[in-house]
Amino acid sequence: MDTLDFDLFVIGAGSGGVRAARISAGYGARVAVAEERYVGGTCVNVGCVPKKLFVHAAHYSEDFHDAAGFGWALGAAAFDWPRLRDNKDREIARLNGIYRNLLDSKGVTLTGGWAGVLDAHWVAVGEWHLRVRHILIATGAWPFVPDFPGREHVITSNEAFHLERLPRRAVVVGGGYIAVEFAGILNGLGVETALLYRGPLFLRHFDRDLRETLAEEMPKKGVTLRFDTTVQAVEKRPDGSLELQLGDGSRLQTDLVLYATGRRPLVQDLGLEACGVGLREDGSIVVDDYYQSAVPSIHAIGDVIGGPELTPLATAQGMALASTLFLGDKRSVSLENLPTAIFSQPAVGTVGLSEEQARARYPAVLVYRTRFRPLKHTLSGNPEQTFMKLVVDGESDRVLGVHMVGPEAGEIVQGMAVALQAGATKRVFDATLGIHPTSAEEFVTLREPVR
Ligand code: FAD
Repeated sequence: MDTLDFDLFVIGAGSGGVRAARISAGYGARVAVAEERYVGGTCVNVGCVPKKLFVHAAHYSEDFHDAAGFGWALGAAAFDWPRLRDNKDREIARLNGIYRNLLDSKGVTLTGGWAGVLDAHWVAVGEWHLRVRHILIATGAWPFVPDFPGREHVITSNEAFHLERLPRRAVVVGGGYIAVEFAGILNGLGVETALLYRGPLFLRHFDRDLRETLAEEMPKKGVTLRFDTTVQAVEKRPDGSLELQLGDGSRLQTDLVLYATGRRPLVQDLGLEACGVGLREDGSIVVDDYYQSAVPSIHAIGDVIGGPELTPLATAQGMALASTLFLGDKRSVSLENLPTAIFSQPAVGTVGLSEEQARARYPAVLVYRTRFRPLKHTLSGNPEQTFMKLVVDGESDRVLGVHMVGPEAGEIVQGMAVALQAGATKRVFDATLGIHPTSAEEFVTLREPVR
């Protein structure tokens, strides 16, 4: 193999691909990356980053309202959607540049355009055919919209970031975190918003108390939640508005329908099956614990291998793979104690096992819970409640799960994730002094398990 063009050829410059590329290059590998759409991938362009900026924007409406209880008198608030959207676009363009520089500074070759696999060691990008030692598929995922009459009238999160104008009314369809977050964003920005989900309660894989708490809190902010509701068809009316025909026979008028009903791995036409790479029914690539596919020189990480779709997971997998391939230090990323947040309003933060998962795995589970009105809201008058929960193994005393619904839940639970990773017991939590007055201190003052 002495005529190799590159040691590693990465398809997709998203969270996982960029990280794998620059760490591998740092280990001395000759690396190239092909990107057909946008450097930085989903997270930077149509995911985590613009979404979080929109969440901040949406929260202001509540903050203005809360300010009155603290003595502030504000004029009538006015919201300018094009200004938010365009400021966000400028920030994303800046980040695109940073991602390019990250690759450039490590000597990684970045090529624009679609790339595919020809065989175990050949890739095609544009007109070029390159011979490479390792191939990394880091192509991510794409929103999936089921088939139904009027499907062409709905949008996905991809388009939501670029709307020309904000609608007066919107319906979000889906029960995952993206649906919940967009319902909060639209509602906070002043759009009359309903969230429709076909199941009895959204956020299926999360702790039940979290799900129920959020289902109580979101309507307080103005979001209409309709569970056990399916969409049969969407029709466009002469005035441009949309009419949903629902499974129970009723109809619902709106101006925008956003489908957030899951994402599918982006593997079409990559040439993977032809060269022996195994795919699951949903298109996700089958890899072993070290991200190697059935073809030893072809690897895959991130959303395209299925599992939790989270940027920190994709980047950690990228670093592990770089170490495995170019340091000779085989590494894998554990899914234990995976922290995550839902940037809903109020926010959700969670790490470790839900109560249901813990009860399925441990014989003696203790649960500690509290629900309270945060200090701030004693003056703001905001009816929002904060919820916190610890799930503990009664035998070893180890804390198995930490869950929260409330302001800054993601920030608070990130710290808790370190404690769980270190194997903290409930005794360690009890011996930790609180920071007063905070909401987070409740996590170290919970004493009585729920009976
Ligand atoms: P991606 O980042 O999707 O990158 C894949 C790249 O490959 C893309 O740039 C694509 O254009 C390119 N590509 C695909 N096929 C080809 C080809 N054949 N040739 C060349 N290039 C190709 N995660 C969090 O952790 N926190 C959040 O708050 C969060 N919010 C999200 C909000 C939304 C609305 C969405 C959609 C996702 C969010 N995520 C969040 C998930 C996160 O964005 C993904 O988990 C992460 O981007 C996955 O990284 P990846 O490297 O696997 O793929």
